Amino acid sequence: MYCPLCGSVDAGRVATDQYYCWHCLIEFRVNSKNQITIYYVEDDGSLVDMGVNPEEKIYAQSQKAT
Ligand SMILES: [Zn+2]
Repeated sequence: MYCPLCGSVDAGRVATDQYYCWHCLIEFRVNSKNQITIYYVEDDGSLVDMGVNPEEKIYAQSQKAT
């Protein structure tokens, strides 16, 4: 499985449809529509939902900044 952020092939499966990237230190899930939801992993191991299609979210944040 490729990491959606860095494109690394090192992303390993940690659960059904759930993967972990050792480069980005993020987890991501792929749903039945092939939408990828990315989770940032906090220091205490909790997951923070970064949303589906992170590029769009980054775009939205840059829009808000301006
Ligand atoms: Zn990655």
